[in-house]
Amino acid sequence: MNHSSMSRRNLLHAGAVGAAGASVAFVHKPVLASQPELPVSGSQPCGFYRFQIGEIPALVVTDGFASLSPPHPAIAPQATKEELEKAFDDAFHPRDRANLEFNILCLTIGSDTVLIDTGMGPLGGPTSGRALANLRAAGVEPESVSAVVLTHAHGDHIGGLLGKDGSSAFPKAKIFMSKAEHDFWTGPSPDLSKMGLPAERRSGMAQAAAKSLASLAKQLEFVKGGDSPLKGLTIVDTPGHTPGHLSVAIESAGSRVFAISDLAHNHVAMFTNPQWTIAFDTDPAQAAATRTRIFSRLADERARVFAFHLPWPGLGRIGKHGTSFWWSIEPWAWQA
Ligand SMILES: [Zn+2]
Repeated sequence: MNHSSMSRRNLLHAGAVGAAGASVAFVHKPVLASQPELPVSGSQPCGFYRFQIGEIPALVVTDGFASLSPPHPAIAPQATKEELEKAFDDAFHPRDRANLEFNILCLTIGSDTVLIDTGMGPLGGPTSGRALANLRAAGVEPESVSAVVLTHAHGDHIGGLLGKDGSSAFPKAKIFMSKAEHDFWTGPSPDLSKMGLPAERRSGMAQAAAKSLASLAKQLEFVKGGDSPLKGLTIVDTPGHTPGHLSVAIESAGSRVFAISDLAHNHVAMFTNPQWTIAFDTDPAQAAATRTRIFSRLADERARVFAFHLPWPGLGRIGKHGTSFWWSIEPWAWQA
């Protein structure tokens, strides 16, 4: 048996793909007669993940994702394309795209069912808008949601609060948000001049936020840093990405999780260099300063962190090396 037929046989046995390069085609046929062919559905079946924060049962549901392709200059406009690619290469991150997850946290606090943010809802494209279906699959009916903490009024966080017909998706929920955030987007001319987006896109975002907030006015309740809207939740002001951007510290029976929301949009770029921002920041300099301050604290505390945009399901910890940080993903746990 010559070398090439041996390697091919080994590959077939292992069902391996990819490593052999283009000369050995993708082994798509069943290797054994009894082995069914893997169906290709185009999407993953799993849309929720359970874990526990002390006595609080927690659930992450995905609303989907958005892909920034190419990632530069939307991510790290301060860097050259080559500098960002070097950071991505070093971390085995693809160069051609950065996927932003939409991870929504759902907490059961006593008799309350609480969401932190809601995803794109009907505002997004074909890769998002799955939150309601995933909540239902996990046994949570929208009518049972009694509170939503809205970390900020960008479409990927507020969009899911309204249904396709413009009615409230969570009609019985109080919606907690920052007054600064509310007043910014509902004011006569929100200053979006520091965003790295075309003028048309900026005004579209402002109009969408103002419209959504007007529709939800009856459900809104304002909170600020230090407030505790529900037992175990403490609001933390983390401005910069938007003027009234909030994070949420969750604590129960000695366990803590810090929900950073949009303090980072990518698990490599904003950690390798916390000064690297994203085009969606209202105030990039303030966003970078807030990120550095909060990341340093969370690294020192070895805190368990939940991140809206980082790889599914968004749980991890922040490590620190000099002026850089790194994101350590929490391994999947079978038991919640
Ligand atoms: Zn976001």
